[in-house]
Amino acid sequence: MRVPFYNIKAQYDELHAELDSAVHDVLSSGTYTISGGTVCSALEKDLSSLLDVRHAISVHSGTDALRIMLDAAGIGRGDEVITTAFTFVASVETIVQAGATPIFVDIDPRTFNIDPSAIEAAVTPRTKAIMPIHLFGQMVDTDAIQTIAEKHGLVVLEDAAQAVGATRHGKAAGKFGLSAGFSFYVTKNLGAAGDAGLIVTNDDAVAEKCRAIRVHGMGRERYHYDCLGYTSRMDEIQAAVLRVKLNRLSAWNLHRSRIAEIYTAALGGSGVTLPITCRGNVHAWHQYTIRTPGRDALQERLKAEGVDSAIFYPVPIHFHAPYRRFGGGEGSLPVTEACAKDVLSLPIHQHLPLDHAAYVAEQVLAFTGVLAARR
Ligand SMILES: *Cc1c(COP(=O)(O)O)cnc(C)c1O
Repeated sequence: MRVPFYNIKAQYDELHAELDSAVHDVLSSGTYTISGGTVCSALEKDLSSLLDVRHAISVHSGTDALRIMLDAAGIGRGDEVITTAFTFVASVETIVQAGATPIFVDIDPRTFNIDPSAIEAAVTPRTKAIMPIHLFGQMVDTDAIQTIAEKHGLVVLEDAAQAVGATRHGKAAGKFGLSAGFSFYVTKNLGAAGDAGLIVTNDDAVAEKCRAIRVHGMGRERYHYDCLGYTSRMDEIQAAVLRVKLNRLSAWNLHRSRIAEIYTAALGGSGVTLPITCRGNVHAWHQYTIRTPGRDALQERLKAEGVDSAIFYPVPIHFHAPYRRFGGGEGSLPVTEACAKDVLSLPIHQHLPLDHAAYVAEQVLAFTGVLAARR
């Protein structure tokens, strides 16, 4: 059996009639990229109601969302932002691009998310913000982070790139921070046909700043610029694709949770460490990530049996050349470094047949059986 890690084409196959017609409507309208475009505005409305936030601001990518959020929060030179090194590079890259200093703290090995108990020791007089990442689709411990942020007067900027559809105590990502950034990159739970992202916030002033920064710092008056900005509008075509797929998001995320249930039921007691869902959380299952000391051998075995898997993330951020100077070197983040060595993400997506998931689980079990026999 052949089990690919993603199947993006299946999304098109499921929705081709609606997608073709939505994209055709944009093409024939002659309006493709414009501030406040009609399709982008409609998507923003859909998403602000889905996520229950006052403002949803469509942007060019998830990375741009983070970059613009940092600028809008006034984070810059001399400021420190607390985050983790077990994430996609964009979380840290944008902090550095803003001129600020990323301060890495370790993660909770059960969730791969920032360890709230490690945050306070990293706070200095220069700390301005915490950027927690809702990694793999599970929200961080928002209550603990909120308490620390309030105590020290810090803003919270959520990297919710992997967490569309996730909730904690019934609230979506994006409701507890000053703002949150989502990504609609092709392989995310809700994927465009190219790059796209979103900022959400309940703060009117922050929303206005983000909207200005999105288009060169242009304020309400055309060709009047209030601040530095970028060119970071979402294309109308991407918005049209996303509006069609958004109708399927909750069903698609439900399918992901079924896959997760299959893995969890089959692999309990197999010797590999399984991901957990914390109380109060609805997991969006962007990734199903197990831990095992035999990670590389397991990945090879799965590949030999036709199963693709992936390592998120093989190298912690503080080991990469542009970010080394911000970290404490090898051994400074023991949990992060241990996870980089033994995590493996199994295929989980909206079009993975349930029997394929069962096959994947069987292959993992076969592998752990081999290990047991060798001992
Ligand atoms: C995907 C991702 C981003 C960046 O999103 P893009 O849309 O690819 O720019 C940022 N942070 C995390 C954690 C991500 O997974």
